[in-house]
Amino acid sequence: MRRKTTTNNQRNNHVMSKMRFFALQELANRKPLEVEIPSNKLTDYYGSHVFDRKKMQEYLPKEAYQAVVNAIEKGTPINRATADLVANGMKNWAKSLNVTHYTHWFQPLTDGTAEKHDGFIEFGEEGDVIERFSGKLLVQQEPDASSFPNGGIRNTFEARGYTAWDVSSPAFVVDTTLCIPTIFISYTGEALDYKTPLLKALAAVDRAATEVCKLFDPHINKVYTNLGWEQEYFLVDLALYNARPDLCLTGRTLMGHSSAKDQQLEDHYFGSIPPRVTAFMKELEVECHKLGIPVKTRHNEVAPNQFELAPIFENANLANDHNQLVMDLMKRIARKHHFAVLLHEKPYSGVNGSGKHNNWSLCTDTGINLFAPGKNPKSNLLFLTFLVNVLMMVYKNQDLLRASIVSAGNSHRLGANEAPPAILSIFLGKQLSTILDQIASQTDESGRSAEEKTILRLGIGRIPEILLDTTDRNRTSPFAFTGNRFEFRAAGSSANCAAAMIAINSAMASQLNEFRVGVERLMEETHLSKEEAIFQQMKQTIIASAPIRFEGDGYSQQWREEAARRGLTNISHVPEALMHYMDDQARTVLLGEHIFNETELASRVEVELEKYTMKVQIESRVLGDLAINHIVPTAVIYQNRLLENLRGLRETFSAEEYEELSADRKELIREISHRVTSIKQLVRQMTEARKVANHLDGFKARAFAYQEQVRPYLDEIRDHIDHLEMEIDDEIWPLPKYRELLFTK
Ligand code: ADP
Ligand code: MG
Repeated sequence: MRRKTTTNNQRNNHVMSKMRFFALQELANRKPLEVEIPSNKLTDYYGSHVFDRKKMQEYLPKEAYQAVVNAIEKGTPINRATADLVANGMKNWAKSLNVTHYTHWFQPLTDGTAEKHDGFIEFGEEGDVIERFSGKLLVQQEPDASSFPNGGIRNTFEARGYTAWDVSSPAFVVDTTLCIPTIFISYTGEALDYKTPLLKALAAVDRAATEVCKLFDPHINKVYTNLGWEQEYFLVDLALYNARPDLCLTGRTLMGHSSAKDQQLEDHYFGSIPPRVTAFMKELEVECHKLGIPVKTRHNEVAPNQFELAPIFENANLANDHNQLVMDLMKRIARKHHFAVLLHEKPYSGVNGSGKHNNWSLCTDTGINLFAPGKNPKSNLLFLTFLVNVLMMVYKNQDLLRASIVSAGNSHRLGANEAPPAILSIFLGKQLSTILDQIASQTDESGRSAEEKTILRLGIGRIPEILLDTTDRNRTSPFAFTGNRFEFRAAGSSANCAAAMIAINSAMASQLNEFRVGVERLMEETHLSKEEAIFQQMKQTIIASAPIRFEGDGYSQQWREEAARRGLTNISHVPEALMHYMDDQARTVLLGEHIFNETELASRVEVELEKYTMKVQIESRVLGDLAINHIVPTAVIYQNRLLENLRGLRETFSAEEYEELSADRKELIREISHRVTSIKQLVRQMTEARKVANHLDGFKARAFAYQEQVRPYLDEIRDHIDHLEMEIDDEIWPLPKYRELLFTK
């Protein structure tokens, strides 16, 4: 589009701020899109795009159906002939939805999911074109995936990785493609994805928890892990987004002065949702429901233009697949509604970040939620046993849990200036805390009869009904008990939940095994009854894990000090936090429970360190470019204008009057000059620091250098730019401002 310009200054204005003003113009014409709901009965279309049991029954021969059910429930392998039948049934179902392609859908260690689409098309025996999907193609594929991060596991000359069908997560259809959830492993059998270790961790916690449950009830044969995630995200108009190279390239704003109004009023929280956003949410919900993702709640979050989506909890493996799928759907549907979705943990500084709370619980095949207080003393003993093991698990594995959630993005949300600290602690609520304290302080019991002791125990084990009311909440706790589950709140909004779920469930498996061994030893060595041994072991565990319990304000300075006194760790240095994947406790858990082997563990850390390095590197490059190509020239234009103004003043007024009238402008020119010079210097130094870091040997050295030598420049440069934003004429500022990004509907 061309514009007529008159003066030099005006032309400069328009050239400089073109993107920003065009974006704002576009915005003025936005209208909410009409969204079509397939039917007013949700059940008419819920799961319509999932090859679930109902469809399997319809499309598969009886024995094939049974084989899949057995594989899901008991892990029995599926033979090739059966796989052929399943593949054929799947294809026929998919074709009823006009599907033309299929893909193995997997979760590499990058952000997001990967897929490679193939057509059903094949040559038949007579050279004719046929449509076929065989069991061989269903069960295993060999994507050319040498470019996925693997932490040195695969040499590129043997760049072979396999994807293998995960029977426990049903196939689904997106657009015209049949997607088959798979694991992704190297030619030599090492995991290259999130799903493989997640499945192992879930199996490990199942085994360990089942054995502990058997101390109470021999009829319990399996323990399932449930996950209910809450996905926070920001929306921003697509045109404004496109006018912010930093958002496009790094997912967050690298500059921007805070808006005069931000979240102080908290009027956005649970406020009404703008119509354009409602339309987006509606469509997202419909698509989720078609895919069998039980999304339920949608609401505004604390920050402006921040929202949340949460489904009903599901089995952790499926829940995680669904979260991956939702993040993907969000991005695509947002575009259609002229929004960009920001999954970054901290898109705007000074404004609340986005997390992904992981609601986690364990549930037996007999239907008992092991984190729900029981109705009678016996079931309460079971509940308390699991509860204290969670306390100990988190206490012992603070560093592993933290390692599982740190990233470049999340570090702005945890452990940074305006963010909660990177300290792990557990909130239980007053009543439960009191009960545990009572158990721990039971002292002199000699002289009491066994019967008396039991009565005492039962009294302690009685948990008031009121506990079931989940209003007793502490929003500042990173690991909170919320009535029938634990909520791990430190996970970042862009993360794959599997990382946290692998750490938590394998640590829990390890802890439960230790607990059971302790109980068995007590029974053997001291001839205590089983219940008494459990009780004693529980008491020891409560005492030993006491430092991890904290009921106060987790964001306060006092807590940092108190936590340090308690010996809890607080690590905001990302690469350092990641290195704890390799410490003794983490190895005991991850290698001991056979979640990873040595190579896999080392490669995982390498991948995470490299991801960190790359993210900071990109941020640093983008900021350098924006500073030099956008900000400095704008500052110079404004400075020239001020100089022109001074010349005019001097021509018009007497020397004396001029001195008086020009003082503030001269000061401003000086300030702008100073900032421009500083920006240029800092960008140069940052570039040098990058060069030095890039030449270091090893992933660890590079990541540490990026954290310590490169990253500090980002804040320093930003500070100058944000000041310039306040000083320079709004009309020529090239990038959409915070108030525009955050408050346009
Ligand atoms: P909040 O008040 O924390 O925002 P929500 O109701 O929005 O709570 O989300 C809570 C999440 O926890 C939902 O995904 C819900 O299904 C899940 N949840 C509820 N009970 C359990 C449980 N026993 N185990 C795991 N997740 C659960
Ligand atoms: Mg929550």
